[in-house]
Amino acid sequence: VYCYIVKGKVQGVGFRPFIVQACRAAGIKGYVQNAGSHVKIDVDNPLILEKILKTLPGEMRIDTYEKITTPDVFDDFTIRESQGEGYAEIPPDLYLCEDCQKEMGDAFNRRHNYYFTTCARCGPRYSITRHTPYDRQTTSMSEFAMCHSCAREYAQLDDRRYHAQTIACPHCGPILQLLERGSIIVDDARRAIDATAKLLLAGEVVAIKGVGGFHWACLTNPTYVNTLRAISGRPHKPYAILCRDMNMVQQIAHVSMEEERLLCSPARPIVVLRKKQSFPGVSELDTVGVILPYSALHVLLSESVNEPIVLTSANLPNEPITTHAREQVTRYILNHTRQIINPIDDSVMKIIGDKKLFLRRSRGFVPEAIPLASQNDEIILAMGGDTNAAFAVYDRGKAIISPYLGNLSHAGALQRYQQTISTYLERMKIRPTIIAGDAHPSYVSHVLGKSMAEEWGLPFCEVFHHDAHACAVMGEHGLSESTSIVCDGNGYGKDGTSWGGEVFFQGKRAGHLEPQLQLGGDSAVYQPGKMAYSILRKFLTPEKAAAYIAPIFSEKEIHVLEGQWDQRFNTPPTTSTGRILDAASYVLGYCTQRTYDGRPALLLESRSTSPYPFSPIIENNVLQTTPLFEFLIQNSTREKSRLAATVQQYIAQGLSQIAQSFGGTYTFSGGCAYNRIMTSYLLQNDFRVNEKLPCGDGGLSFGQIAYVLANPGSKHP
Ligand SMILES: [Zn+2]
Ligand SMILES: [Zn+2]
Repeated sequence: VYCYIVKGKVQGVGFRPFIVQACRAAGIKGYVQNAGSHVKIDVDNPLILEKILKTLPGEMRIDTYEKITTPDVFDDFTIRESQGEGYAEIPPDLYLCEDCQKEMGDAFNRRHNYYFTTCARCGPRYSITRHTPYDRQTTSMSEFAMCHSCAREYAQLDDRRYHAQTIACPHCGPILQLLERGSIIVDDARRAIDATAKLLLAGEVVAIKGVGGFHWACLTNPTYVNTLRAISGRPHKPYAILCRDMNMVQQIAHVSMEEERLLCSPARPIVVLRKKQSFPGVSELDTVGVILPYSALHVLLSESVNEPIVLTSANLPNEPITTHAREQVTRYILNHTRQIINPIDDSVMKIIGDKKLFLRRSRGFVPEAIPLASQNDEIILAMGGDTNAAFAVYDRGKAIISPYLGNLSHAGALQRYQQTISTYLERMKIRPTIIAGDAHPSYVSHVLGKSMAEEWGLPFCEVFHHDAHACAVMGEHGLSESTSIVCDGNGYGKDGTSWGGEVFFQGKRAGHLEPQLQLGGDSAVYQPGKMAYSILRKFLTPEKAAAYIAPIFSEKEIHVLEGQWDQRFNTPPTTSTGRILDAASYVLGYCTQRTYDGRPALLLESRSTSPYPFSPIIENNVLQTTPLFEFLIQNSTREKSRLAATVQQYIAQGLSQIAQSFGGTYTFSGGCAYNRIMTSYLLQNDFRVNEKLPCGDGGLSFGQIAYVLANPGSKHP
């Protein structure tokens, strides 16, 4: 008899039931068992088993297996009770498989229109799992006793729900109910869904408990959306829209085959698409995020409403997603009684060229490991950055990145971040041997990482922000060297100033954007007019420059700004790409205030058509940005949308010329690598981009790990 130790995506994806069914059908004997960090299979016929392992269906995946001989003898093939400890990969939360979708629509099936339909191969996993081995009792389904019918299916070998840990039915599973001001007003599931649909159609904002947290939902009518904006504290941020099916998606947006495939994939992310309808209240951009139902409950709700539904995670700006009914602020709540163990937001993606990019990597992907080959045996905890916070843990060739956790300058987000770190370390049963964090001394993630390192007596490795961005894309593509362009809003540079438009060659800064003065310091991030004034003032008289900001700033404010500019007071220099895009967006009249992350740059991108020809001006590998603004002012009577495109094209073309003068393999990352014009241009010029994780700060922790692995001597005790 042979014993196999199998590792990979083999828990929570119907692996054990599949193995039992296949082995019994083939007439071989033995057993299969979840053993914490791996799955164990004992068989009397290794040839047949290895053949079976090559034909895994669905989401199952084997990374490695070992084979040893044992003296045991068996007379049938069974599933043995789980045992053992250690960390195994828990699958992400996935949409219904095709069989479950069919059942939902079958009027004679006992799960016809059942809001929690799942099976051994589909449904929630990560969001409901406490720890491995993945079993009924380690999930939040443990509190629901199976009814007789479910228990029979669970025990019956040829049933699709044989050992399906999320098994439930209308008789025994979690309860769905509609609450008004905290009291249950409808406790029948079907009627609760229909009543919720009615409320939405009447213009209400309803909090709806989903898989990884609550959403706020309302219809797309601008008045209703305004109510939602008042509740969420987001005056302008674009919202996503839930469509019941592809027909509805096609009515509201342009969809390519690739985008359709992504929308329909089991991860069911929000996909950013070009709008067909204007949806003025929903998105001020030329794009809108679209999502298809990602659970049975969302299928039923969107069918009952039969109109596009605005859907946004139920939390205040920068705070983590909420998971309890008691945290809700809306009058009506569609609640269910399955506890959310691991909160997780929707993932957000966008396709540029033929690349699928992550704006946010969460539900449907987390906690899937990202491979990162290295001889280094360190166990690394990487803290990531402060905005779009996501930490990562590295152990033996794999990096596991946490979901998106908000902005750490907000108390709730910081608390969730700290909790999630301890949960991950505890669940993976590992203790880091090194902690890495951003080099910025006042980043919350830096301070926290450093104090944890001190407490545990570990080295703390400071990684410069843009090194981490460059290493993130290199690590993903298995590159040990690259000529890298990194463009973002800002990060702490090696000379202590703010960087964000850099070219790196052999790990050193080899080129960058012309430093501009960030007039008013941090406030210029929120008021792009200050950045614009600072640049215009370089070639315009105070009076002429003032004319550009007079509509937004009072005479007194302008006087103060001019004084600061003149005295170089509170004017830190920056090479940030984000600040240049912000200033251009202001000069072209698109944006006066940043009310959500990246707003001025997104509006600029959104209003862009084709660029005017304008060759980059480069001096000593520094791309000059002041001439770009002179160009904008001199050509102010020409088409704005083309001027907007010129700005982005100029930066991409200029930095790419600098990079190409060094040669090598090219990479592009940082928060601006989502920009359609810049990214398209650089993809055409053989630059590689992040495809497995966000190019912005959401991918920073992975980059910190890649940096530590590539620079083993870089510890700072
Ligand atoms: Zn299924
Ligand atoms: Zn049942």
